[in-house]
Amino acid sequence: MLDVHASRTASSLQTGAAAGRWTIGDARKIYNLPFNDLLFRAQSVHRAHFDPNAIQMSRLLSIKTGGCAEDCGYCSQSAHYPTGLKASKLMEVERVVAEAQKAKDGGATRYCMGAAWRSPKERDMETIVAMVEGVKALGMETCMTLGMLTPTQSERLANAGLDYYNHNIDTSERFYSEVITTRTFADRLETLANVREAGIKVCAGGILGMGEAIDDRISMLVTLANLPAAPESVPINMLIPIPGSKLADQPPVDPIDFVRTIALARILMPQSHVRLSAGRTEMSDEMQAFCFFAGANSIFVGEMLLTADNPGEDHDSALFRRLGLKPMALQAVQPEPAE
Ligand code: SF4
Repeated sequence: MLDVHASRTASSLQTGAAAGRWTIGDARKIYNLPFNDLLFRAQSVHRAHFDPNAIQMSRLLSIKTGGCAEDCGYCSQSAHYPTGLKASKLMEVERVVAEAQKAKDGGATRYCMGAAWRSPKERDMETIVAMVEGVKALGMETCMTLGMLTPTQSERLANAGLDYYNHNIDTSERFYSEVITTRTFADRLETLANVREAGIKVCAGGILGMGEAIDDRISMLVTLANLPAAPESVPINMLIPIPGSKLADQPPVDPIDFVRTIALARILMPQSHVRLSAGRTEMSDEMQAFCFFAGANSIFVGEMLLTADNPGEDHDSALFRRLGLKPMALQAVQPEPAE
């Protein structure tokens, strides 16, 4: 049997219905289950909370590209590395709303807008608020990723109708300073708390393949699962090594390890949308299918992420057809069963 907290029963582990704190030991034991047992458990948890054949589809737009003051070792947009990316200014509101309309026409239900900032400047907040209001008026869910936020900025975005704020914790607390030195893991958690306090839903995940140990991946997921409320969205990215960046020479992630991490995310955070994010271009269709089986139920659609390639709609539609998957309608999360 699994060595879990006394308060958590074996059946609650299977359904993920128990609230509580996970330990690294609990999570490691689940991660190391025989692959078939792990996937069976993850799929069982998934089915208890979601339509197993529905995938939430988001679209991402870079509203301000490059020239970022932060030194994230994985990022093409950091001004600290010679990645060759051309920086651009904050986009105009009209253009952002027009792009969101196109995304909606293409089936996306959530529009994610990302700016390469350490944190937004006060002078940009008015434009940002107008973008949220404009996209919201199209009937789409809105998400932004703008770097660190103060409580006041979080409240302003909440009042504008922002649904989600993305702020990844990237990796474990232990490994964090190996990847980023211009801010701390605690800074990340502080912004997540500010966003949550303002009533905005949280999107927070991380990246695999930066040289971290398996235990760092497990620790990252335990941190997310143990937040006062788990993030509603958990993006799991696979590093795309960027030439010129600090992590340009990292070897690829083992696909089985990646699928195990997705399964663990699903089991630890049963009600969250687990998103297959950057790196899908490097995954085979079979690997993606395993990820969906392990509980991933969200993807980014379109040819591009912020600055990285994405499979594109034709390829995704073909894969969805082959797997019998369908786009998830808005608000399709099933409520937690009463105990
Ligand atoms: S990940 Fe974000 S904060 Fe880090 S360098 Fe890139 S744009 Fe800046």
